[in-house]
Amino acid sequence: MSETYNFEAILEGIRRINRIGPDEFLALHTPVFQGSEREYVLATIESTFVSSVGAFVNQFEEMMGQITGTKRAVACVNGTAALEVALSLAGINRGDLVLTQAISFVATANAVRHAGAEPVFLDIDADTLGLSPDALLDFLQTQAEKTTQGLRHRQSGRRLAACLPMHTFGLPCRLEEIIGICHDWDLPLVEDAAEALGSCYQGKPCGSFGLLSCFSFNGNKICTTGGGGAIVTNDEEFGKRAKHLTTTAKQPHPWKFFHDHTAWNFRMPNINAALGCAQLERLPEFLNDKRKLHSDYQKLFSDSPWQVVDELSGCQSNYWLNAVLLSNKEERDAFLAYSNARQVQIRPVWEPMPTLPMYENSLCGPLDNALAVADKLVNIPSGVRA
Ligand SMILES: *Cc1c(COP(=O)(O)O)cnc(C)c1O
Repeated sequence: MSETYNFEAILEGIRRINRIGPDEFLALHTPVFQGSEREYVLATIESTFVSSVGAFVNQFEEMMGQITGTKRAVACVNGTAALEVALSLAGINRGDLVLTQAISFVATANAVRHAGAEPVFLDIDADTLGLSPDALLDFLQTQAEKTTQGLRHRQSGRRLAACLPMHTFGLPCRLEEIIGICHDWDLPLVEDAAEALGSCYQGKPCGSFGLLSCFSFNGNKICTTGGGGAIVTNDEEFGKRAKHLTTTAKQPHPWKFFHDHTAWNFRMPNINAALGCAQLERLPEFLNDKRKLHSDYQKLFSDSPWQVVDELSGCQSNYWLNAVLLSNKEERDAFLAYSNARQVQIRPVWEPMPTLPMYENSLCGPLDNALAVADKLVNIPSGVRA
């Protein structure tokens, strides 16, 4: 084994970059609460407005609109719920198909199912780790047909109702190409931007491209509300309906309980929004430190055969989680065992969706990149350095 393959030296480098002592545990990602988190959360307790209404929810939604450059943001209980509602608003109906990528957190596919549709798993690009426009176009050209009742999957007759790409680990996927294809094929685009808060594609925020887009504020994301999510959109009507449908579809009235839809209670509580407002205030600093961390990792691995995954040119990743491609599965497994036994939390990428039991019969395209990446990719500790 050459020096650059030396696991011990690599772990030593990772610890040094993260300013962690030799015996300290180094997590994959830890939230940092050094701004107004305590003050805002205490304010909700003192006001008694900890639950489903409160000023922080409105403030959080306004901040999200500004950060993502969208007209309307709706705070939700988590990112999965946000996706389910966004897909329903985009017109997904029972029995439809939604085109998405084979490598993602399981919530992407689960949200499709919960919205009543079935996911179709397509390949990713090896560089962005996001939905491959070539795979999307190939699937449409070989398996779709335009009919008077919309775009159909030729073999099953099911409607192809939406395209749902995901910006993996904050790396923007090839949006321009994907948008072009969706436009040509009349396919609504919903972005799963759960991991991409603060990422930009050619100067525009990820999440501002979809008809509707979703974010997550789970504890491991770049900003957290404890648990939470958001739907953002540039369509005022979608925005209004998203708010209405995630808040039990109650018509405004001083006392009467009149609900006009079988809706959800997917509200973000005010106490969570308070934490979120303080976190969003710190996003610029978080992004800054994550860029530095990424460049420190590039240097660490520059002489090694391992490859740190970079943003596409013209794009800015939030580098939520740094990803490294190792040489092969055996080496990857050995490194996972070595590092986790030594208090450094390193994780493999998610299992490709069609290998999970509930999705093993799903429609798929060829998955060459997805399967190759699944064997070789790990995430290395990427939390903001306090
Ligand atoms: C985190 C995440 C979600 C779901 O968000 P939750 O808030 O955990 O429900 C959805 N999609 C992707 C890609 C995610 O990483």
